[in-house]
Amino acid sequence: MWGHMSDETAEKAITSPVTAETKSPVESEPVTQKAKAKKRPHAIALFSGGLDSALAILLLLKQDIEVTALTFMTHFGCDASSDRSSCGSNPYPMADKFGFNVKLMHLGQKFVDIVVDPKHGRGKHMNVCIDCRMLMINEAARCMRMMNADFLVTGEVMGQRPMSQRKPIMELVDKETDLGGRLLRPLSAKLLPPTLPEQMGMVDREQLEGISGRSRKRQMELAKEFGLDEYPTPASGCLLTDANYSRRLRDLLAHSGTINFTDLNLLRLGRQFRISPECKLLLGRDENDNKALMQYRNKEVYVLEARETSTPFGLLYGSPSEEDLRFAASTVARYCDQRDLPEVNVTIVRDGVERVLRVAPANEDALSKVRL
Ligand code: SF4
Repeated sequence: MWGHMSDETAEKAITSPVTAETKSPVESEPVTQKAKAKKRPHAIALFSGGLDSALAILLLLKQDIEVTALTFMTHFGCDASSDRSSCGSNPYPMADKFGFNVKLMHLGQKFVDIVVDPKHGRGKHMNVCIDCRMLMINEAARCMRMMNADFLVTGEVMGQRPMSQRKPIMELVDKETDLGGRLLRPLSAKLLPPTLPEQMGMVDREQLEGISGRSRKRQMELAKEFGLDEYPTPASGCLLTDANYSRRLRDLLAHSGTINFTDLNLLRLGRQFRISPECKLLLGRDENDNKALMQYRNKEVYVLEARETSTPFGLLYGSPSEEDLRFAASTVARYCDQRDLPEVNVTIVRDGVERVLRVAPANEDALSKVRL
């Protein structure tokens, strides 16, 4: 549409004035070297699948710059299958439409480490946006070096997000990631000092944008110009920006010396109750939750069910006292179909040992104090 060419097409375009048929192999050698010297600039772009990062890429493709997009995944909802935020939209439809490559990269433990101990603090909830940006930029820089690319691109817009997209924070990110001027933000470029690719003539600064603030008017205009008609609506971010998820995560960090990927996966499931400092109860809300929780049974965990009726499946983690066990059983009773009876039989199994407790369903007052 705007002359984005495949490698093959670009190579052909560069070499086409002089072909093997018109020159001898010896004569053609300097031409090949000249073609190599004229290699298209190559940018590595952070690509969430959202509108801003897409526009940043399109502004470069328009200048015939090769772009490799990186989409990062984490254990906190930034993944290609998530539809909850622009931090995790499916990147492929847009990449297919506009013809650029996408590489997926899971940040795994590196991201968990910054969530546990963020150097630059948290946002309103457990989000660690500044450290997150730095980690993603550092990982993208690693790719840039591995792929021998020329510079990095992000879809950041100055002043758009309260934590990570303010000018002083952008300057801090530049300083700490130390890319020597190779980090370009095409949407706000005209408001920022010229970067190395602009100074070296790889990118025409005049064709970049000077957008700031939360209004998305200019982005909408650009989307229209580029024929970008389908993109996710801007959302608040990953799971770390969610108040309920953050409460669960805070609780996990407060009660576990270390956290592993299973702990993190479980945070997303069912109803959860901090029965005591020593134990936590997870309860299925529906059939799907019950099935998912069943996958996590092991001989260390207590399994609770009100078997005489339709019941949520409960997993009790930790070292409960007898009182904790009774309260966990009464919580299961509260959510089973016999919740209106004065007492319910709840079966508890751990490591093959089974017992039945007869308990009264817990009342809302007591539950509200331990609900996560
Ligand atoms: S919301 Fe913040 S912490 Fe979460 S992925 Fe986006 S930038 Fe990173």
